[in-house]
Amino acid sequence: PAETHGPGVQVRPGPAPVARVVGAGAPVPLDDGRHVPYANLDYAASAPCLEAVQEAITRALPYYSSVHRGAGYASQVTTDAYEKARETVRGFLGAWQRAAVVFTRNTTDAMNLLAHAVPAGTTVVVFETEHHASLLPWRRAVRLPAPATPAEAISAADRALAGSPGGPRLLVVTAASNVTGELWPIRELADVAHRHGARIAVDAAQLVPHRPLDMAGLCLDYVAFSGHKLYAPFGAGVLAGRADWLRAAPPYLKGGGASASVSGHGDTTRWAPGAEQRHEAGTPNVLGVIALAAACETLATRWDALAEREEHLLARLRSGLAAIPGVRELTLWGGRGPRVGIVSFVVDGWSARDVALTLSGEHGIGVRDGKFCAHPFVRHLLDVSGAGCSGGEGTAVRASFGIGTADEHIDRLLAALARLAVAR
Ligand code: PLP
Repeated sequence: PAETHGPGVQVRPGPAPVARVVGAGAPVPLDDGRHVPYANLDYAASAPCLEAVQEAITRALPYYSSVHRGAGYASQVTTDAYEKARETVRGFLGAWQRAAVVFTRNTTDAMNLLAHAVPAGTTVVVFETEHHASLLPWRRAVRLPAPATPAEAISAADRALAGSPGGPRLLVVTAASNVTGELWPIRELADVAHRHGARIAVDAAQLVPHRPLDMAGLCLDYVAFSGHKLYAPFGAGVLAGRADWLRAAPPYLKGGGASASVSGHGDTTRWAPGAEQRHEAGTPNVLGVIALAAACETLATRWDALAEREEHLLARLRSGLAAIPGVRELTLWGGRGPRVGIVSFVVDGWSARDVALTLSGEHGIGVRDGKFCAHPFVRHLLDVSGAGCSGGEGTAVRASFGIGTADEHIDRLLAALARLAVAR
């Protein structure tokens, strides 16, 4: 049955959760000393661990051992699991058979690895709407302003690549915005890049927890993402893509694993020729990688149910926000196109920090406030929304959700914001 929800808004209860996360409903203290079940609406920062991921870690722990170089049974088992995880990630991303799949610490690390590996003189074209992880690592970048429409994004990239100097070129773009949740037209942008002989690198940190990616089908040259946004613990991420630049670059970290042979007399080191070995020096985060692969396996069987549930939660949240006077959602393209479960907003008369602290201290709701490591983009959104520096800070509030999110979490947020809005 439909429920009433705020002034004049009717919402229906949603489909069942698609999997279980660890710690759902754990109690958190309020300012007045009471405890309530935590409403985690900060998935875009880090998602909670899936129970299936926790089980995979528990299964791996008895054979916890170093990979690649040990002859013992545990080392063999762990090496198998680590290399199998690489294949799982390849399948998860829809990458081609010979694509490099390099394990990194996170998306930031993956983008910095790519920046390290691009040939000297590469021109990088990047939108100012990017997360800093994808905006900042490049030596030579052409920055494009926030486009007013997806079509403008495509034509701006086209013009920038047409006008850029010869030599290698790379277009860097997010697949799903960490600020607005809006999806970028990566298929069309890949076509544009390739028409100009450039490559495309996609920051998929916020896409892959929500939607499948078909790297080969979309002809994406590079994809980066983080395990901790994908329901696995911190410390493991991925750079997948074309191997040639990675194989030609010096190792990202120099040390054991990256070296094929080292002479006793100084400088005659031969580096491992494979992209993965070359850029994974040192003992890797084996458990993190096994966990990340377990998350990939779980999500890969549930995309339709996940999308259906997220659409429901998104509609509930956005219609509820729109019904609260003084709450303004921030979107680049009007929020009508495809998007994932991330919504940023401002509350007139309130600083983002005070909103976030009140939601936490009085309602047990976790959101993020600030500029979300996307300073130029948030500034732009505040300018065009007319919110300017709401609360004098130039910051916003972000609610983001995923598998463990219940209707009740959204409803609690909306009720709390409705109270805040009248209290200003
Ligand atoms: N790219 C996007 C779109 C993100 O949302 C984030 C994190 O918020 C990053 C990159 C950086 O991810 P990490 O901190 O895991 O390196």
